[in-house]
Amino acid sequence: MRPVVEIKTAGEIQAMRAAGQVVARILAAVQDQAKAGMRTSELDEIARDVLAAAGAYSPFLNYHPRFAPVPYPGVICTSVNDAALHGIPGRKKLADGDLVSVDSGAVLDGWTGDAAVSFTIGTLKPADERLIDVTRDALRAGIAAAVPGARLGDISAAIGAVGRQGGYGICTDFGGHGVGRTMHEDPHVPNEGPAGRGLRLVPGLVLAIEPWFLAGGRDIYRIDRDGWTIRSGDGSRAAHVEHTVAITEDGPQILTAL
Ligand code: MG
Repeated sequence: MRPVVEIKTAGEIQAMRAAGQVVARILAAVQDQAKAGMRTSELDEIARDVLAAAGAYSPFLNYHPRFAPVPYPGVICTSVNDAALHGIPGRKKLADGDLVSVDSGAVLDGWTGDAAVSFTIGTLKPADERLIDVTRDALRAGIAAAVPGARLGDISAAIGAVGRQGGYGICTDFGGHGVGRTMHEDPHVPNEGPAGRGLRLVPGLVLAIEPWFLAGGRDIYRIDRDGWTIRSGDGSRAAHVEHTVAITEDGPQILTAL
């Protein structure tokens, strides 16, 4: 069955861009202030301050999807090293050389933005630099494929091709998604798949595009006992980047870039 997708007007996309700008400011503030010795809960506090100053709220806080045993307790996800997605901010202290992925969202005037960045604390290891660069390249490729007339599978294929060329593992259970009044809408956007297949892309479709790759090259993950944290199955490092993107007549527009 075809997913029911919500098509946004130009005015609604403008409103979504305002929400996206809050997300961009959260991620910039967190990345700017993150340093060795800081607890990941402190990064969550930074994000809460940006949300409050913007008059926005978090779509992450208390989010309770079917797969999770408890509602999500933070406003950002802080996934460190072999953690790829949904790491819960807490007492864990960041150390020099850590690879951190931060995912964040904001709801402003009823519209949602969703984005993520990956970066390292202090010393940048060449292998991490390559992983982050390739994950960003895949995001760029996925966004470039998000044009009217193309298919959803073209985005998946573009992302997957970059990841495979890099030699990285890809798991399609968690990926991109429609975004609008709520954070997770149809359609699901897998990070790999056949081109030329799936939903026809039309102006007004807004998608969160979010490649996450595993450095070890194996397509396996595991979930922590907390029920949320997604880690590489082989202990290798992971990177995750994301933008909220509107498909328009003039091409893809990134709503979560400053
Ligand atoms: Mg997302």
